[in-house]
Amino acid sequence: MHVIHMEYDVFKANDKIAEKNRKNLDRHQVFSVNIMGAIGSGKTTLIEEAIKNLKGKYRIAVIAGDVIAEMDASRFRKLGVSTIPVNTGKECHLDAKLLEKALNEIDHENTDILLIENVGNLICPVDFKLGEHLRIVIVSVTEGDDIILKHPMIFKTADLAIINKVDIAYAVDCNTKKMQEDILSLNPDVPVILTSKHDFKSLETWISFIELSFKKTAEK
Ligand code: MG
Ligand code: ZN
Repeated sequence: MHVIHMEYDVFKANDKIAEKNRKNLDRHQVFSVNIMGAIGSGKTTLIEEAIKNLKGKYRIAVIAGDVIAEMDASRFRKLGVSTIPVNTGKECHLDAKLLEKALNEIDHENTDILLIENVGNLICPVDFKLGEHLRIVIVSVTEGDDIILKHPMIFKTADLAIINKVDIAYAVDCNTKKMQEDILSLNPDVPVILTSKHDFKSLETWISFIELSFKKTAEK
């Protein structure tokens, strides 16, 4: 059970640092993507696929948020991209202060796209803005098709929603159409992508979403 006991001031202070982070990122023309989702939703795998595809065209850096250990960070490093692991210890989310610290370790001048894997959790990352340009939420069919309505806020505030592992939806008795409808009932304008790591076309759709969003921001 995840209970949040936070003062309003904590969020206000966080928002201020997030604003600073955003200015810092914009000044150096680094496009940043906050990727959120529960443990096991497939965040790391989808990020890996994006890195493999985009690293030839753009300079990619990754921040790997985790409560403990560096398992995900080492997966990203293997792909030859600059990777900063951030262990949150007891905290179940990244916050703006942690991102500020991690940004100090990034070679801003040589980064186009910064992918941030948040800690596996669908609740508090909603309240802790990082200063990111894009907020993406990933859910897996293994979480059950009632998962969306149980976590409305993260879907309301997302710029993209991904339903992952759809190749096994039937096996886990999950109705992906219901999931899509639930997402759109909360956030009618949000794009929804259905993905499976075994479906190359779906991965292409996910990767081109990041690329197009990056290009749109870079043009501004
Ligand atoms: Mg992961
Ligand atoms: Zn948390």
